Parts: sequence; structure tokens; C-alpha cells
Amino acid sequence: MTTLDSPRETSNADAVARDRANVFHSWSAQAALKPLAFAGGSGTTIWDYEGNEYLDFSSQLVNVNIGHQHPAVIAGIQNQLAQLATLAPAHASDVRGTAAEKILAHAPANMSKVFFTNGGADANENAIRMARLHTGRDKVISRYRSYHGNTGAAIVATGDWRRIPNEYARGHLHVFGPYLYRSNFWATTPEQESERALEYLRRTIVAEGAESIAAILLETIPGTAGVLVPPPGYLAGVRALCDEFGILLILDEVMSGFGRTGDWFALDAFDVVPDLITFAKGVNSGYVPVGGVIISEEIAATFDERVFPGGLTYSGHPLAAASIVASITAFEEEQIVENAAMIGRDHLGPGLLALAERHAVIGEVRGRGVFWAVELVADRESRTPVDAAFMGAVKAQLLQRGLLPFIADNRIHVVPPATVSAEEVASALAIIDEALGAVTGARA
Ligand code: PLP
Repeated sequence: MTTLDSPRETSNADAVARDRANVFHSWSAQAALKPLAFAGGSGTTIWDYEGNEYLDFSSQLVNVNIGHQHPAVIAGIQNQLAQLATLAPAHASDVRGTAAEKILAHAPANMSKVFFTNGGADANENAIRMARLHTGRDKVISRYRSYHGNTGAAIVATGDWRRIPNEYARGHLHVFGPYLYRSNFWATTPEQESERALEYLRRTIVAEGAESIAAILLETIPGTAGVLVPPPGYLAGVRALCDEFGILLILDEVMSGFGRTGDWFALDAFDVVPDLITFAKGVNSGYVPVGGVIISEEIAATFDERVFPGGLTYSGHPLAAASIVASITAFEEEQIVENAAMIGRDHLGPGLLALAERHAVIGEVRGRGVFWAVELVADRESRTPVDAAFMGAVKAQLLQRGLLPFIADNRIHVVPPATVSAEEVASALAIIDEALGAVTGARA
């Protein structure tokens, strides 16, 4: 019999073959897929079925902030499982209330309630719905170079509940946020880039008609798009525009929240207070799927006497709630956020900048905490991105040396768990150094 203590004998090839025979993968053309197989993990380390270990500097999809198999989170889930495995959202439970309380304890002071979802995309869907209902306006401005989730068609196809506006098919527009490295030299300082982006946003608001815009939805630090840390004044400037035009500000902290940046929320480092915050990933490191919306007192009050037409069967699932309680408690007791800040400041940041001095292929290094991107260019002058074949070779070299990376376009995202040690960072930096040397040497 197969038990957790005695996993069945499986080779990597067996696991991949079973996967390829049966699993339809997301974000992929199926034919060419060659997924890696993984059997277990602990902390920053993850291993396959044949005992090969990797440093997980991807944190999977940048979500395992507490590291793999944290014993307190596993125990929290197991205890809840033994007590009550599922509960409808309409009922009250201590664990769900405590999970929301612990999230609010680390959120800005104007926040008063938590709406739970199953992940990040539906958190953003519901935040947008709240903003539209609260303002009575339709449009939502977000940025090019952002990622907010992959849902929306389901409600368009839905035949019942037609009185809910078809909010996915209308009123979305995009603006260019600040990205100094690729502003094509229109701006040369972070301050100019911030000013340019804010002026462009203002013109867009005026041209669209402020009275038609419900919300501006931004990742506090766009993650998948390249860890684009906003320049000084940008987020405060967006907040000021929101206030001037009566627009709500939704900050998407799905990737950047819960220790990733060395703060509880990325927004803590900026002079900005949003109306709604969306979260998922790091809140429980993905041990159980969960996400949600943190709602300001003012917006929550809108729904005191009015129905909020949104809900999911598994909203506030007890296992998810238990994992959140255990995870945030461990973050507090083990000072995990502080560790992420220290690692970014003293090890990862300086280490990556030192690599940039040794490798001309590194065009820019940016980030904070355990949230970094290394942008690779074929030529520093023109900033031409390296091609996909180059990134494929980098990925292969990193894996061969035992580092599991998160690669996006021409970037290595260096995003270990927030629990990562200085020694693990030193090993990872040495591997990146060798891998870049091997690829550029091989191509010279
Ligand atoms: N928002 C941001 C900033 C994300 O990075 C992601 C996922 O990577 C999402 C939303 C979507 O989250 P999910 O995949 O849990 O739906």
C-alpha cells in the first residue's frame, strides 16, 4: 500500500510519462512539453524521484514564501482536517475569523474586512466588481506589463444572473507605467520616468472621462513583468490622481505580499494607501489554494445594507484558513519578513550587483527582499534582449548545477523563499555566475 511514509517506487521518467499521458498543462503547447518531476522538498530545497536536489530559487510560481514543508503549516492543516474539513462560506468559524484577523493585523490601518477567494485571479475579479459597485462606474485602468490572473470568460458565458453586469467585456484600458530601463531614453532619471508615467496617466483619465473610471488596478511591484520597482513618487502620484478624480486604487499584492519584498506588503515601502488589496500566494505559500481581497472600511460599509453579488463554494475554506493562521504565526515568530529584508539588503542585492560587474550580459539588476530580476541583454548599449535560445541555455546550465530558476522573457527572476539562508544565497550566486560564464563563453 502507498502511504506518505513509503512513496511508491517511481523514477523521474515514470512520473513524467504518467503526467504526459494524462495531464493537460496550462500555458503550454502540449507536444513539446518536458516537465521536471519533483517528489519532495524541505525549506529552500526540492528534490526529484531519484534524489537529485535543487535550490528552489523560483519558489514555484513565486508563492512558497515560507519554504517547502514548513512543519507548523503542515500541522495546522492536519489539525483542521481532523476537526472539520469543509464549511460553507455563509457559516462562521473561528479559524476563518482568525485568518482574516491575522491578515488585517499586517494591512494598512484603513482596512477592515477580508473577502476570501480560491486564488489571485478571482481576488482581482472580485476587487474589480467591488470597485464598480462602490463607484457606480465601469472602466478599469491597469498597466501594460502586468499580470492579474487568467479568468473572466466563465462569467461572460454564464446564462443566469444576467443582472450582474458583464464586467469582463467592457471598460478595460491600459497605460504604460514606469520602466526606466526600457523607456527608450525618453527619461533618464527615475524621477523623470515617474513624472512621465503620471502625466500620461492623467491625460488618459481626462481623455476617457474621470466619471467613467471605477478603479486603477496596479501590481505594487509588477512581478512576472520583470520586478519593476516603482520610482520615487509614482505610487503616491497615482493615489493623488485617484483622490482628485474619485477613482479607487486597487493594489495587487498577489505576488509581492507576505514577505516577498522584505515587508509584509510591498506597499509598506511606499507612501501609498490603497482602497482594496488583493492577495494570494505568500499568504499561506500555496499549501492550500487561497486568495482574497482586503477591503477598506469605507468600501466594506457600502455593502452593510446592500448585497455583494459574489461568492465561491470554497471561499474561506477551513484548510486554507488554518494554513493562513499557521503561516502568518510562523512568519511572526520566526521573523521571516525580517529575514527577507536582511537577505535582500546584505546578500542577494549586493551579490547580484557584483555579478553584473563580472558579466556584460547583465543589463540591469532590480528588486528588493527576495524579489529580484536580472535582465539579460545581447548588447549593453542598445539594451537588445537576449533571445529565447540564450535563455534556454541559461536555464539548462542552472538546472545542471542544481538551481531551479524562474525564467521570464530575457530575465532570470531570483525569487527564493523568504526563509532562505545567506549560505543558500551564496551557493545560488555561485551557480548563476558559473552558468552565465558557461553560456557566454560557449557563445563567444
Ligand atoms: N496577480 C499577480 C500579481 C500574480 O502574479 C498572479 C499570478 O502569478 C495573479 C494575480 C493570479 O493569481 P492566480 O494564479 O492564483 O490566479
